[in-house]
Amino acid sequence: MAYLNHITEAIGNTPLVKLNNVTAGIKGTVLAKVEYANPGNSVKDRMAVKMIEDAEKAGILKPGGTIIEGTSGNTGMGLALAAIAKGYKCIFTLADKQSKEKMDVLRAVGAEVVVCPTNVAPDHPDSYYSVAKRLNEEIPNSFYPNQYDNMSNTAAHYETTGPEIWEQTDGKVTHWAAGVGTGGTISGVAKYLKEKNPNLVTVGIDTYGSVFKKYKETGIFDENEIYAYATEGIGEDILPKNVNFDLIDSFIKVSDKDGAVMTRRLAREEGLFVGWSSGSAVYGALEYAKEHLKEGDVMVVLLPDHGTRYLGKIYNDDWMRQQGYID
Ligand code: PMP
Repeated sequence: MAYLNHITEAIGNTPLVKLNNVTAGIKGTVLAKVEYANPGNSVKDRMAVKMIEDAEKAGILKPGGTIIEGTSGNTGMGLALAAIAKGYKCIFTLADKQSKEKMDVLRAVGAEVVVCPTNVAPDHPDSYYSVAKRLNEEIPNSFYPNQYDNMSNTAAHYETTGPEIWEQTDGKVTHWAAGVGTGGTISGVAKYLKEKNPNLVTVGIDTYGSVFKKYKETGIFDENEIYAYATEGIGEDILPKNVNFDLIDSFIKVSDKDGAVMTRRLAREEGLFVGWSSGSAVYGALEYAKEHLKEGDVMVVLLPDHGTRYLGKIYNDDWMRQQGYID
């Protein structure tokens, strides 16, 4: 009988799919790593399981424990699936800009969700980072994975996503592009692929309102770069340890609108019903590709999550019009 012992064993080995239409006029081949094919419908399943397994090995997470994390939703889903498999409780803190669908999904898999204000500084006591830390101090036998600075995050992608991309492209990948939030995805894959091919170019996709691009270019953490933006899952107002700036060759900033419009194009023109940061990643990757890709080059861009979590936003025409993203 060919069965898995738990759904978490189905994580990884996601498809790599050629982009055929949104790439008009671009030289070379652009391939999408479709991470919604993971059981939790996002790339974050990979690192969630790895953070838990590493914590168990280190004796930080013990039987009957509670996992507490600040998450934009997708990490929470991955942690919840792993928690079900292993018998842990979950409490997640989310910023209130996150879509309602993401909160409902987390509750559906048994997690407790604490909603925190978006527009407060990370060190403010009400921020979703601070609330997660406080709950971790208050609740006995709790584990705070801290996906931003927990290097199991990068390791998950070094061990799985990177090797998959190398094998799926037969070692022909020349460019690697991904959105940067915690930085685990881009850094782990870049580390693996650059070990295999030191000439590989890595492009990080950032948002307006985030600190990454300026920091890479100047070495300055510029607070003037920080302002509210709507794209979910990428860009930060902190420098997570998982962002390895040495492995990211350049950053491209993508606006909320350009990301949102490209997300809808991916659904309609490629049949890829993906989330907002996927549109941002493809928009930014193609901006880079227009300038730099040559015949024979192979660019892989990662699509982090599924479109269902954005039905009330990106895939809602009224909402798109209200934002001024479409006419
Ligand atoms: N897109 C979405 C929708 C996400 O949830 C995340 C995770 N924050 C990312 C992109 C970025 O991935 P990473 O944290 O590995 O940089």
